[in-house]
Amino acid sequence: MDTAKTMIGLLGLQGDYAAHGKMLEALGVESRVVKKPEQLAAIDGLIFPGGESTTLIKLMDSWDWWAPLKDFAAAKPLFGTCAGMILLAKGVSNPPQKSLALIDIDVERNGYGRQIDSFEETGSFDANGQTRELPMVFIRAPRISRVGEGVEVLAKCRGDVVMAKQANVLVASFHPELTDDLAVHRHFVEMVGQ
Ligand code: GLN
Repeated sequence: MDTAKTMIGLLGLQGDYAAHGKMLEALGVESRVVKKPEQLAAIDGLIFPGGESTTLIKLMDSWDWWAPLKDFAAAKPLFGTCAGMILLAKGVSNPPQKSLALIDIDVERNGYGRQIDSFEETGSFDANGQTRELPMVFIRAPRISRVGEGVEVLAKCRGDVVMAKQANVLVASFHPELTDDLAVHRHFVEMVGQ
């Protein structure tokens, strides 16, 4: 793939979008922070970072992000981590809240309990027919509680699905951008290149 021409957007509303940019840089892929819907036209894929999903919803309401993001996902790859995954999921509980419903999964916010705010764990990642270990960082993470039929499971941890893909949409309940392992970002860059 000619990654030299690929430009990946980092949704810069709130959260740790800069860390995703560093991962892409390590892969030799260019990225730019996207702060207005009209900037979506100039990118080939978009990373929807973690943060606080209720805050993200307010910002998305204020700046009319809902329709442009749905249109974008119909044409180009989108990768949501943690709060980004919550916004992309079809169903959200604890408490219920609106979402873009771009991948057929349900998620439970803070699904690993409030007492364990964050934890690191080694999970398994299936990429290109091979299963390998992957370090995973969970921060007040949502738990995937249902995976629809058309959804491909890509990673598991503690028996839970923690990474999944449907068509152009990739989601992870953990934060690959907070580890040294580039495998998940490489996978997304490959999706963008296809
Ligand atoms: N707990 C947050 C939420 O529900 C997500 C946390 C994160 O993105 N690290 O929005």
